[in-house]
Amino acid sequence: MARGEHLSTLAFSEKGSRSHFWAPVSQAEGDADVHRLTAEKSWVTSAGQTDSYVVSTRSVAAAEMTSSTLYYVPRDAAGLSISGPWTGLGLRGNASAPMQLAGVAVPTEHRLSGEGEGFGAMLSVVLPWFQLCSASVSVGIATAATSATRSHLMASKLEHLDQSLASLMNLRARLAQMQIAVDTQRVFVAHVAGRMESPAPDTMLAVLESKAAAAEAALQVTDLAMRTCGGAAFSRHLGVERNFRDARAAWVMAPTTDVLHDFIGKALLDMPLF
Ligand SMILES: Cc1cc2nc3c(=O)[nH]c(=O)nc-3n(C[C@H](O)[C@H](O)[C@H](O)COP(=O)(O)OP(=O)(O)OC[C@H]3O[C@@H](n4cnc5c(N)ncnc54)[C@H](O)[C@@H]3O)c2cc1C
Repeated sequence: MARGEHLSTLAFSEKGSRSHFWAPVSQAEGDADVHRLTAEKSWVTSAGQTDSYVVSTRSVAAAEMTSSTLYYVPRDAAGLSISGPWTGLGLRGNASAPMQLAGVAVPTEHRLSGEGEGFGAMLSVVLPWFQLCSASVSVGIATAATSATRSHLMASKLEHLDQSLASLMNLRARLAQMQIAVDTQRVFVAHVAGRMESPAPDTMLAVLESKAAAAEAALQVTDLAMRTCGGAAFSRHLGVERNFRDARAAWVMAPTTDVLHDFIGKALLDMPLF
């Protein structure tokens, strides 16, 4: 993977528990050597394109809702199927699809977490990187929209007035708001990366905040870009309409912004997250 020779993806979300990825409703069966996985995964990014899947499911002897195990499942495993190509909202490089596992046999040495320890691995290993990378993508999308808006304001003319769109104060003010949001989030992402590098008591809080803050900022920035560039924003040549579509995914990717706000509020009030 590190050499870029093997692509894998997370198959966590299930039809039954929706965005509550920490509580799969599917449950593994099996013995000491082989486990059989049967699950309906609702969304898997790059499904059908990757070499393997990281699949979560309730453990064989699970008693708790969050007693899960993570497995390595190769793309050609018997019983694994993908529900066809993406037909929804256009997103850059996106090929997400539902995925079904029907009694997929997995050797127990292909477990990626300890038996029943998938929940802990999701939170301590997967979540911090997912949050930080998702936040970085949101900042990148917002940066692209801001840059395209700036170029459009400078290049587009009101010929009858011999002025560019940059001469309109309201458009300049919107560009300023966009830049402030981008710069604020970029600094915060760097701060969170620093906290992950050198952990402090507030590291988990910062990690939780990072995706929520950047996703919300990207929505605001791309909405401002659409309004600031006017009808031209609807055309593909600016790229702003694509930024507008791409920015929307981070908000609903689990943990969704709603759930993150709840987690952050609970953390601030010394309440358990789950
Ligand atoms: C393009 C795309 C790619 C994806 N790729 C992957 C992937 O690779 N792997 C993977 O595992 N999943 C993936 N997902 C799934 C994603 O992580 C979410 O699970 C999914 O988007 C949730 O959609 P849903 O309709 O089930 O939402 P629902 O869970 O039905 O949520 C509906 C609304 O309720 C809110 N809500 C839900 N629970 C709470 C709560 N406790 N408190 C407050 N509000 C709440 C949500 O924020 C949302 O606004 C992907 C999703 C998308 C859109």
